[in-house]
Parts: sequence; structure tokens; C-alpha cells
Amino acid sequence: MLDADFWGEQSEDQPPEGCIGDLTLDEVALDKLRQAVYERAGRAERIPALLDALTATDWVAWLNDAGARVAVCAGCNRYMRVSDAVSLYELPWLGDGLYCFECAERVRAEHTFTCEVCGHDFHAEREPQPFKVCPECDSPGVTLALSSLWAQLQRARKLDLPATLTPRGWLDTLDYFGWRCAYCMRAEFACLDHYVPVVQGGGTTRGNCVPACTSCNSAKGGRAPQGYLIKASAYTRVEEYLAQFQ
Ligand SMILES: [Zn+2]
Ligand SMILES: [Zn+2]
Ligand SMILES: [Zn+2]
Repeated sequence: MLDADFWGEQSEDQPPEGCIGDLTLDEVALDKLRQAVYERAGRAERIPALLDALTATDWVAWLNDAGARVAVCAGCNRYMRVSDAVSLYELPWLGDGLYCFECAERVRAEHTFTCEVCGHDFHAEREPQPFKVCPECDSPGVTLALSSLWAQLQRARKLDLPATLTPRGWLDTLDYFGWRCAYCMRAEFACLDHYVPVVQGGGTTRGNCVPACTSCNSAKGGRAPQGYLIKASAYTRVEEYLAQFQ
């Protein structure tokens, strides 16, 4: 242990508090370190000033020269043995710093998210917004679908209506209708349609939302289901699908 004894009889000076933590050096390493400090200081009375001026980087270099094989944790700045240091290669945006075990766990957890589409964990520099979607699940189509979901969830919440449709549920509904309008089954999905319109109290839920094209959506408008501009068979198809989730 690098404590008061380290400085031996030649000096009463001690290293700055906490600078070595609980690192244990063997005698050979301690001797080398003593030598390095004295050589640099020249005289024992210069040691305090020298220690004040030393940075963590200096200490690490000295300790390593002495054969201690130490590094400074990029998280908590404590010294640790190189053999205990963890590299977070899976988080490349953090650079190549080394971490102690506790900091590595904490930092990894801060950068790990569970994909709301596939359920797998993935790493990201910051939490993806508005939903946590892993790179494998993401695509321009998914981004568009989820941004309309987000807008409609917000809208329902503002009106105090149910807002429980999940990203996975919405994408499953889109897959079911082949990413086409659930009413005409021809045009591509353009917006999220509330089967029972929001103005009539329909929430953003799995049992009330289907993809629609712009023209079917506006034909339906704020009218109750069974409005007369869309074929009855289209309503039946949509109702049968939604009934499973009500
Ligand atoms: Zn640490
Ligand atoms: Zn995913
Ligand atoms: Zn349509």
C-alpha cells in the first residue's frame, strides 16, 4: 500500500490523499516508484511541490514505469489495475477510455435501451425519441409510421382519451393491412385513422386505429363509423380486425 511508509525515513511527506486508492503495489514496484519520485524531485524537500503539480496522467505513467500496470477510470477517476479495467468497445462514441467494473456497468446501462419493436437490447449514444427503436428495426417507413403514432398518442392524451397503442401494436396493424389503406386496400398508408373519430371520443388504441390513405381519411372525416362515402364492406373488414383488440 502506498501510505506514509512509502516515503521511508527520508521524508515525512505523503502522496496526495486518494491518489492511489486501494491499489496494492509489490515491493519491487514500490522501490521503483520511490526512486522515480526522488529522482524527479532531486531533494526530499521538493517532494510536496512536485506532488502538488502531478496530474493523474503523471501518476499513471510513473506507476506503469514502476511495473504497476495501472490506469485511471474514465468514469470515477480512481486508479485501478489494468487487468481490472474494462473497455467499452460496444459504445464507440465514448472513445477508448478504460473503466472500473462499477463505472462500466453504470455507463453501459445508461447507453442500453430495449427496442419497443423487437424487444432486444441495443446500444445508443442517447435515448432515441419519441420511441426506442433499434437500428435493425428502423427504416424510413417505420420512422414515418411511428411519428404519426406519436402525434396521435399526444392528441388523445390531451383530450384525456385512451392512448395505449404501442409501436409494436401499430406496426403489426400496418403489416396486417400490407401498409395499405385499410378502407380502399389500394392506396399506400398515409395516416393513422381513428375508426371511432377522436371528436367522438375514440382513443389511440389498438382496437380503434387503422392505416388510411388521405382520400379515405378525408371521406370518412369526423363522421361516425358507417359514414356513407366508404363502401360498407370496407367498414366490415376494418371492424372485424379491430374487434380482436377491444
Ligand atoms: Zn470508475
Ligand atoms: Zn428492434
Ligand atoms: Zn384509402
